[in-house]
Amino acid sequence: MLLPMAIGIGGIPSYVIGANMSVSGGSYSELLDRAQFRVCATSLSEECVRLLGRLSGVANQLTHEQQTRLHYLQAWRAALDGNYHRSDMLIDGILNNSRDPNLRFKTMMLSVNSLSDQSKFEEAFTQLRQLVALLENGTDIARDVREQGYGVASRLYADAGQFDLATYYAEQIFRLNLAKTGYVCVDDHARIAALYGDNKWENIDALIAQGVDVCTKERNSMFANGIRYVAANLDLQRGHPERAIALLSRHHDEVQRDGYPLQLAQFESLLAQSYQQTGDLDAARHWALAAVGHGSSNQYAKSASDAFRILYLLAKQKGDSVSALNFHEKYMASDKGYLDEISAKALAFQTVQQQVMAKKLQLDALNKQNQILQLQQSLDKSDSEMSRLYIILLLTVLAFIAFWTYRIKRSQLRFMKLARRDGLTGIFNRQHFVSSAEMQLQYCKKSARQACLVLIDLDHFKVVNDTHGHAVGDRVLKRAVAACQEHLRSTDIFGRLGGEEFGIVLPECTLEQALSRAEQIRVAIATAASGEDAPGIPISASFGVATIARSGYELRKLLIDADDGLYRAKREGRNRISVCDDTQPRERVGGAATERA
Ligand code: GH3
Ligand code: MG
Ligand code: MG
Repeated sequence: MLLPMAIGIGGIPSYVIGANMSVSGGSYSELLDRAQFRVCATSLSEECVRLLGRLSGVANQLTHEQQTRLHYLQAWRAALDGNYHRSDMLIDGILNNSRDPNLRFKTMMLSVNSLSDQSKFEEAFTQLRQLVALLENGTDIARDVREQGYGVASRLYADAGQFDLATYYAEQIFRLNLAKTGYVCVDDHARIAALYGDNKWENIDALIAQGVDVCTKERNSMFANGIRYVAANLDLQRGHPERAIALLSRHHDEVQRDGYPLQLAQFESLLAQSYQQTGDLDAARHWALAAVGHGSSNQYAKSASDAFRILYLLAKQKGDSVSALNFHEKYMASDKGYLDEISAKALAFQTVQQQVMAKKLQLDALNKQNQILQLQQSLDKSDSEMSRLYIILLLTVLAFIAFWTYRIKRSQLRFMKLARRDGLTGIFNRQHFVSSAEMQLQYCKKSARQACLVLIDLDHFKVVNDTHGHAVGDRVLKRAVAACQEHLRSTDIFGRLGGEEFGIVLPECTLEQALSRAEQIRVAIATAASGEDAPGIPISASFGVATIARSGYELRKLLIDADDGLYRAKREGRNRISVCDDTQPRERVGGAATERA
């Protein structure tokens, strides 16, 4: 299901269907209206499911227009249930058959949300561009449908970490409503989502109170609870878990009735975290189990990752090592999946931007070529004196084309470079690190040179996140990377292997030299804590070192051995460097390094 924001927080549901559409007479029309504007307007309640069932039963007695409306409701329901095959088919049918601009627009919104839920981010962003173009040009779309369109744009851009765009579209909703008195629910929750995701929390409390009030008045319980979820997150981060518990418990049943599995999982996972902080471990376990029990909600959502982490920690505390290992594996998989999804969204956004730019440049180049053709035609007619002038013009235009082509190439190169880099730290991402490291090792093997691999994992990094928040955690990560870079040569290959784990391939370097370089980096990281980006946050890192002299030139084997060393460094107290030791049997605890080389 759709993650409402880049940091996986916000809990604002993406499916809301109420809208003004023309109503023709007849009791089926009334039933459809009842479904669309009342019982199914904001949630998949039991009554809504019953009504849709009833309408499906009489589908063959409906007019063509009524059937299309029913298909829309059915597509919406299927998407909420995670039955994307069915919802995609229905969506295609509506877009091919309906001429009602409002229904078409709403169907496109549904399609954007459903594509994003299916992790088809490139398609979602492409479709979103069409939606935004309609918002900017299409005049025959009803105001409240446009409002929702801006809401969808705001949320998807927030998901991709594009908070300026997200805020811009949230403000468009506000502008649409300038003529009306008061605020609207869609606007408030879109703005709250963008502000929260962007860590701009100064004036958020007043907006939250207003948003809950407005959404409750509009009887939009899903959005009201989405905003409450943000409020509870803030409570927890500000050290008031008991407030978060009170708020979430009060509205849990309502969320359950609304029937949006992702939102329910978010509420329950946050309840588990809050109870864990108050020390009520039984309750924490109860809610964490509830949160991961909703089969149809996304296992890569932040809620799932948090819930598995709690289950793992609690099992470990109890000394139940079998369950602990089992939950730890699930936690690792969902945490990685969740972080991967965030980068996939950001990358998809960039890809679509790039495609649009390349298309625009191609069009410009074509236009210029057309102009040349026209010039040539007129050249045939004109006299020789004029033709000299034309030739000069022609050359200028050709120079233009060369310039545009150069720009296309340059932007493509820039984009390729971007795709190899980790978005946060700017160093190689895992994939590019692996391919570069393998090439370098091949080269060392052919020329019989030495090489070492160093793995680095920051110590107790979760504590930094938990104590200071993800945004500060991100800054600390950047500082640690900068500290490493101070001690690297241009031939060293440095990359982020996942989370807070990094790898360095040091060509032409003996084990002894590698150990001394690792020591310099260790000291640099440990002293980076006093930097102005993260004042007073003590950090350190543990290191595992492997050498080709012992492990051979295969990257996979080097990673396994360095990971062994890293594990030992952690076990022996962290903030130290260790080399793999064959004599110690090793019990695996996970770690990103060896899994996917
Ligand atoms: P240890 O000393 O055993 O390594 O403890 P640790 O807390 O560092 O444990 P672990 O390696 O399991 O946890 C790493 C944490 O890093 C978990 C994850 O939430 C966090 N993390 C991963 N990627 C990012 C990121 O991009 N930004 C931030 N702020 N945190 C991240
Ligand atoms: Mg760590
Ligand atoms: Mg780690």
